[in-house]
Amino acid sequence: MNTENLPGLYLHIPFCRSKCAYCGFYSRTDISRIPDFLKGLRAEMALYRKAFPRFDTVYLGGGTPSVLETPHLEAVLDTVRRHFVIADGAEITVEINPGDLTAEALRTLRALGVNRLTLGCQSFDDAVLAFLGRRHTAGQGRDAILAARAAGFDHLGLDLIYGLPAPGGDPGATFRGWLTTLRTALSFQPEHLSCYQLTLEADTPLAATLALSPLSLPDDDLSARYFLTTSERLEAAGYRHYEVSNFARDDDHRARHNRKYWDHTPYLGLGPAAHSFDGARRWWNPRDLDAWVGALREGVRPIAGEETLTRDQQRLEALFLGLRTREGIDIRAFRRRYGLDLRAERGNEIGQLAAAGLVRSDGGRVSPTRRGLACADFLARFLS
Ligand code: SF4
Repeated sequence: MNTENLPGLYLHIPFCRSKCAYCGFYSRTDISRIPDFLKGLRAEMALYRKAFPRFDTVYLGGGTPSVLETPHLEAVLDTVRRHFVIADGAEITVEINPGDLTAEALRTLRALGVNRLTLGCQSFDDAVLAFLGRRHTAGQGRDAILAARAAGFDHLGLDLIYGLPAPGGDPGATFRGWLTTLRTALSFQPEHLSCYQLTLEADTPLAATLALSPLSLPDDDLSARYFLTTSERLEAAGYRHYEVSNFARDDDHRARHNRKYWDHTPYLGLGPAAHSFDGARRWWNPRDLDAWVGALREGVRPIAGEETLTRDQQRLEALFLGLRTREGIDIRAFRRRYGLDLRAERGNEIGQLAAAGLVRSDGGRVSPTRRGLACADFLARFLS
């Protein structure tokens, strides 16, 4: 495995065949614009090849990358390799919607060097999938996992969502339904699981529906029960709960690309709405395909906004991001990089959190316990 920590490359594929009720990501359903997008992507890569020549992770997300036809996927990954050096042993991930997966697409992805798939199964309960406005069924989710295994993918991640409103007014039944989904997911022995709590994004159909209905998301107690039970069940099954929402079968199967976001490693994001970071400066592209394409036609980087983080801002972010991971914060490395000696300056606060069972502080690190991960933002605010 490559031990250098090079930047990561993210490509935002801004198309979905339909919009899910809860989704706040930028995507469009008029897939006739895919050729314009691909042209823009080539132009954007050319504009960044000198600033970001090498990567050791590539991540195709969205949107729905699997909306792209096989020749389009080939074109995207070929163009990546023509513009940038992709290190030996790089992690190359593609997000897949289970309803889109074909044996041909799987063969192509393998041949193109894709070595990690994340399948947006979300649930193995058709009623839940319908509530979320997903296009696929539980059966398609199961078939997609089996097809990916049959095609030789040995690094599969499943994305799941929990914490839905209880339609029949029975939160216990909804909770038990989640545990059934979790058991089904475990039966496939995925290398990675991302379990996200459903949140209400502004201006989504789900937010509008709930505003007009007696249904509501779980309260704080029930949310904590979902979180802690999920963590307990998955750790009992041998998974490591290494970040608030993420579980890996072992350390080698943690998501290398996402870790760059959590430890301030630079990354380049291409495509509408993508964000980038060079170590101090962060910038983001317009959440609008036309504006993004328009800038690239004029030969300029399509940047909608930017900020340069002061050292204080970087330190605060590092605290928030670090305490969302089970590894937590290396106190000496934190002092070297951000100029704050947590043990000297926040020793009392760390002691209080440790006494409350929310962090462990030994071996030069301060690390959240399972209960601490459930309130990671509180920990960071307490120590900031
Ligand atoms: S498939 Fe993913 S990106 Fe597309 S609408 Fe659904 S949740 Fe959003």
